[in-house]
Amino acid sequence: MATVAFIGLGNMGGPMAANLVKAGMTVTVFDLVPQAVEALTSQGALSAKTACGAAAGADYVITMLPASKHVQGLYLGSGEQQGLLDVVSKDAVLIDCSTIDAGTAQLVGKAAEEKGIAFMDAPVSGGTAGATAGTLTFICGGSDAAYNKAQTVLTVMGANIFHAGAVGAGQIAKICNNMLLSVLMVGTSESLQLGIDNGLDPKVLSDIMKVSSGGNWTLEKYNPCPDVMESVPSSNSYQGGFMVDLMVKDLGLSQQAALASNSSTPMGALARSLYVNHARQGNGKLDFSSIFEQFANQKSK
Ligand code: NAD
Repeated sequence: MATVAFIGLGNMGGPMAANLVKAGMTVTVFDLVPQAVEALTSQGALSAKTACGAAAGADYVITMLPASKHVQGLYLGSGEQQGLLDVVSKDAVLIDCSTIDAGTAQLVGKAAEEKGIAFMDAPVSGGTAGATAGTLTFICGGSDAAYNKAQTVLTVMGANIFHAGAVGAGQIAKICNNMLLSVLMVGTSESLQLGIDNGLDPKVLSDIMKVSSGGNWTLEKYNPCPDVMESVPSSNSYQGGFMVDLMVKDLGLSQQAALASNSSTPMGALARSLYVNHARQGNGKLDFSSIFEQFANQKSK
């Protein structure tokens, strides 16, 4: 059975690592937050004192970190501090599942290649529910050999696994997806509120739109209006899920990419502005479906 190091045990990484443990793999975990580590060791994972301690000797090293700076710092190290690339075995496959900019993924990929180590970016889609159910979509960027070897662990955590291209390609596909998701979430929120303001029951309106031409993932799986759907962040005071701060980061990445390729992305730019504004009002740690509150009729709250 494969040995896996899993680093970054937050909303996504925690349940992803738990699925590897459940599949019988030997999983050694590390996170800066001790409680996140304890949640995994109580399910049968081993723990290490440092990220490098977890990664040394593992067949697979998986990271699920907030943003580019965390990934770059962890893989490449800084100053005296060793990076993962200094300690992993030459046969290991390194898989970064964080959503970061393609340039950083390529920087880490190149440094890994120079040491003869396989590295792949494999950002995910499917949210915390997909992470828990083991039904994530993985969007991979890397060599065929790394992609093929990674199947052993990715199929345990995901249902759909795509090979988008070389290192960095997974990140580009992911930010395109998240830009579209943000636009759908904003559009769904304003549509639902328009219906509510004109006397409709948001549940009835959601059922109608779900099977009509406005149907989309946010209506089917992640309704932003409280109490329309069970077990989604909107029905739990927008706790858990995918933080507004992380959506702001992803929309920054898509605008950066658009600038670099001279692409026109007006809807993405507007969605970013709306989310930045929402974060500035103190909502950064809430789930991204809380953008609904920007449209809610304050008088009816
Ligand atoms: P999170 O903030 O809940 O978890 C990140 C974890 O990384 C935290 O536990 C933190 O302590 C840990 N961490 C940070 N630096 C570390 C380091 N140097 N060593 C060890 N641990 C470290 O974030 P999340 O929601 O799990 O998201 C992780 C990534 O997945 C982000 O890039 C996000 O954009 C992406 N993502 C999230 C979702 C979602 O629904 N939450 C969906 C798809 C993709």
